[in-house]
Amino acid sequence: MTLSGVFPAKSRLQPVDGAGVSVRNGFWGERLRINREQTIPHGFAQLQAAGTLHNLRLVAGADGRYRAEADTGGALLPFLDSDVYKWLEAAGWELGRADDPALRAAADEAIAVVARAQRPDGYLNSFVSVVRDGRPYTDLAWGHEFYCVGHLVQAAIAWHRAVGDDRLLEIATRAVDHIEREFGATGRPGVDGHPEIEMALVELTRTTGEGRHLALAARMLDLRGRGLLGDGRFGPAYWQDHETVRDATEVAGHAVRQLYLDCGAVDVAVERGDQQLLAAVQRRWQDMVRTRRYLTGALGSRHRDEAFGDPYELPPDRAYAETCAAIASVMLAWRLLLATGEPGYADAIERTVYNGVLPALSRTGTEFFYVNPLQRRTRRTFEPVGHGRRMPWQACACCPPNLMRLLSSWPQYLATADDSGIQLHQYASAQVRAPIGGQDAEVTMRTGYPWDGRITVRIDRTPDRPWTLSLRIPDWCGSATVSVAGEPPVPVAAGTVDRQRAWRSGDEVVLDLAMPVRRTDPDPRVDAVRGCVAVERGPLVYCVESADLPEGAVVEDLRVDPFRDPAASPRPDLGDDVVGVAVPVAGGGTVPAVPYHLWANRGAGGMRVWLPY
Ligand SMILES: [Zn+2]
Repeated sequence: MTLSGVFPAKSRLQPVDGAGVSVRNGFWGERLRINREQTIPHGFAQLQAAGTLHNLRLVAGADGRYRAEADTGGALLPFLDSDVYKWLEAAGWELGRADDPALRAAADEAIAVVARAQRPDGYLNSFVSVVRDGRPYTDLAWGHEFYCVGHLVQAAIAWHRAVGDDRLLEIATRAVDHIEREFGATGRPGVDGHPEIEMALVELTRTTGEGRHLALAARMLDLRGRGLLGDGRFGPAYWQDHETVRDATEVAGHAVRQLYLDCGAVDVAVERGDQQLLAAVQRRWQDMVRTRRYLTGALGSRHRDEAFGDPYELPPDRAYAETCAAIASVMLAWRLLLATGEPGYADAIERTVYNGVLPALSRTGTEFFYVNPLQRRTRRTFEPVGHGRRMPWQACACCPPNLMRLLSSWPQYLATADDSGIQLHQYASAQVRAPIGGQDAEVTMRTGYPWDGRITVRIDRTPDRPWTLSLRIPDWCGSATVSVAGEPPVPVAAGTVDRQRAWRSGDEVVLDLAMPVRRTDPDPRVDAVRGCVAVERGPLVYCVESADLPEGAVVEDLRVDPFRDPAASPRPDLGDDVVGVAVPVAGGGTVPAVPYHLWANRGAGGMRVWLPY
């Protein structure tokens, strides 16, 4: 059993095998508990209410009309089956961690619906079967047929690995076989307008050992950038068909598509030892982080085509910043971290999870943002659906179940392990169990992170030979010390600190990350926020919300006093241990800033991350 959705046979770092990592309490314990107890059950109810499961039942002969209306224009969305699969993936990870009869019953129902919607030949897609004429693969550019199967495969792998239940794997393999018969090595060339199946196919090979799935993924990557998809409404870059995956030097087009595509490219590169392909993804990643990423880790500034903007086109108020794009970048950074071992990818995961992913979920766990702007104006004449207000569900509901499966997978992002030792990448109150050279090791992290920068790692069980404990020192941290087994603390620099020794059970490593409030200047090339400053503390980005301003004051009128320092101040009203910031403003006094991930939990008002001097 493993609870990891990405499991390369060999890579620079290895995911923790077995049940591996458990998060019990603290910041992440609470969020994972809410995901399990509130968000995922809410998701199942919404899949019922929105008609997403009903659409699959229609294939098997149920009565009713297909329900998949977009928010605007009455167009029918062809990809909603994938919401069921993403939800099932989340349910699989959770059931692998601990049983829950109600969740199991809901998942059994969904699996049965999916099984009945599959045709005898293996084809599975409710939109084509019910709304279209039933002929598969006539619209690869917009139809999302491979995309949906990709999500089905990922759900199936979660159930196989975490639960040991292969009902979905059997369904998914037959659906993949159907695609392979038509598009495999001797078939016609075809790529999906929305990448996703590539990474799923690689993971399927890692699961079944059958190389043909990896070969199909590699073939689809090679076929991209050769004009198979046409220009569409937004030009070939929209679906990354303008240049080959190996040649493109910059991210382009629809952000989620680009990031899912690059996930598949890393997976293929790792399996095949293809350094050229891996380097191409790394090059795009570095450029993206430098020129197209919001401070929050959010990606995609254009609403029109859900696209990355041009370099430095990062308006805070008009940000698109789709939740799925942030999630996709976490998935990609994780793959790049495993492939290279470079701590910068773990830094990116941290920034994005706290500030790009978590803000999309309400504190209750039952309302969701689709877009995540860094500013919401107090006075607005027009606002698309869901701006500034999380919704219980969305007509295009790609983001909510994506959040569920990411949070259900989150413990696996904390650590990696191999015969040399254990590497801790993210900090949370958690236990990590992993074999080192065939002998069990177990460590427990205790921390008040992200509110407090002290992390205590206790060695609970250790092999009798020396091994290395590695800790990430975050890129935001200007001053850190580490103390090993009672020795005096020594300063350590950002990056990775390794401590090799013959550990004894009971040994403790204490990492202290200084967390002063930081003032962050924008890149001067980002015109939209020139002359502004952001406030950060530890891994968290802060914002000022109208809920904290005196009656009549508006966030647009604030001016930060550059001569006085912002200071941390407790905010118990927002939750246990929450640390806010008091920001000095021109004319005297301060205004409160709150962690950006907590905004819009007290009504929908004005908000801004970037504050003008
Ligand atoms: Zn989405």
